Amino acid sequence: MTLDETTNDPEPERYYDWMLWKLRQEDKKNMKLNNAERSIWVTFSKEGVHCYPAALNDPKLATGDWDDVSFLGHPHRHIFHFRVRIEVFHDDRDIEFIQFKRWLERLYQQTEGTSEVLVLDHKSCEMIADELYEQISTRHPGRFVEIEVSEDNENGCSIFYPKS
Ligand SMILES: [Zn+2]
Repeated sequence: MTLDETTNDPEPERYYDWMLWKLRQEDKKNMKLNNAERSIWVTFSKEGVHCYPAALNDPKLATGDWDDVSFLGHPHRHIFHFRVRIEVFHDDRDIEFIQFKRWLERLYQQTEGTSEVLVLDHKSCEMIADELYEQISTRHPGRFVEIEVSEDNENGCSIFYPKS
């Protein structure tokens, strides 16, 4: 005799009881699968130059001490690394990874005669994430989204945008 660990629902001996028990087990299993919180994630990276002009003069940033970060005031290059997670509603490519990733990358591509949709320059990682969320939530409304943006995979932000 096996015991269901979550409900103490012992496996019956009689066939008819056993069939009902088996159905209960299946229902429980399906409920767990149906209640699962599903998401997919993709990663990509993008070269960008930004700066933080306030760092040149703000005494909280240009301290002249160990915590001086006044150099941030000058334009400098990073590879910005992105990880984007988005809710999906079933298990069969609700949003297909590669298509989603290509669409995201295209938001940052400069095409002839048009400017970039999203420009990295002068923005913080948090600002970059918020702008990206605007684009994603317009294309895929009604889903939670989580965006990580880092500078050179060293330091960055992680922002969870609940379903709206
Ligand atoms: Zn920077």
